[in-house]
Amino acid sequence: AYLQKQDDYELMANISRFYQQQLKVATDKDVAINYLKGRGLSGEICKRFGIGYISDSWDGVMKNFGGTASTNQQLIDLGMAIEGDKNRPYDRFRGRIMFPISDKRGRVIGFGGRVINDGTPKYLNSPETRIYHKGQELYGLYEAKQANKNLQRLVVVEGYMDVVALAQHGVDYAVASLGTATTPEQLQTLFRTVKEVICCYDGDRAGREAAWRAMDNALPLIQDGYSLKFVFLPDGEDPDSLIRQKGQQAFEQIIDEATPLSQFIFDHLLAQVNLQTAEGKGALIESFQPYLTKLPASTLKDSILTQLANHFGHSNEQQLAKLTKSFANQSATKPK
Ligand code: ATP
Ligand code: MN
Ligand code: MN
Ligand code: MN
Repeated sequence: AYLQKQDDYELMANISRFYQQQLKVATDKDVAINYLKGRGLSGEICKRFGIGYISDSWDGVMKNFGGTASTNQQLIDLGMAIEGDKNRPYDRFRGRIMFPISDKRGRVIGFGGRVINDGTPKYLNSPETRIYHKGQELYGLYEAKQANKNLQRLVVVEGYMDVVALAQHGVDYAVASLGTATTPEQLQTLFRTVKEVICCYDGDRAGREAAWRAMDNALPLIQDGYSLKFVFLPDGEDPDSLIRQKGQQAFEQIIDEATPLSQFIFDHLLAQVNLQTAEGKGALIESFQPYLTKLPASTLKDSILTQLANHFGHSNEQQLAKLTKSFANQSATKPK
């Protein structure tokens, strides 16, 4: 047991190594290995992502890393142990495939654990801790940067398995947002890293709603030269299931043909109004308002405004000027 208190990052790295080692030495390791193989993952890719395993026991981590009041407390603080009755903390993660979550410097700050086969909850994630802030991290970003010296674009997916399965098939530039919505902080990180971001969420209602929210959160960041695009997968599919069926080439073609932000907005908002009526036209303008005001002045914004004016059948300069004025970016027009 480690009796001397270690740095938080050092401790998390050691626990991650322990989980990886368990995939090789646990008495029931075959169950885990077969599960990973069944999902199409090679040993090499598991190693790249530091995937590990912990058997179903109450003290796998406690026994190896706890023992003193201070190490027990540290394990609780880092979300690795749960405070039990009578000062008997026990392991949070039990009987799961373990995905270490790294920060952008590659330091392990948390974990996601998946049950093998069926069970609930399907995924158990580290809670917020002093070193793990969910809304700010992107799973797989460190690995994507390691694999690509010159990252041009990033694909954002929902789950750990999506990131790992894509990398298994050669798409080594995917990250997961570790929650339902991609936060403004995560989008900021994405656009600091690359100029093109493609959201590829699950082909279900939750995935489509997540796409709209990501679009809304990203608007203030879309300046000339930056683009956000969307892939809408068939119902019931996710990036993992799709690339396993179709392979890298077909998947990358889908990515290449992703829907641009402007088209996503138009498709979505136009579907909600009837442009044959004056009321419908007014409603369309109204519905664009909250989105366009968030978009900084840019060529993209100009062309959205022109396109919008065109929808009124009498695209004239006056109409355009009016729209431009009413949709001016608030932060840009704020008096100094
Ligand atoms: P798999 O392919 O292994 O079934 P998935 O990634 O397709 O996993 P989804 O149900 O699509 O699983 O969920 C996407 C992501 O949402 C997961 O990777 C996980 O981060 C998170 N998630 C899913 N279910 C839960 C849960 N019960 N509790 C917490 N997080 C969850
Ligand atoms: Mn889903
Ligand atoms: Mn999924
Ligand atoms: Mn899946």
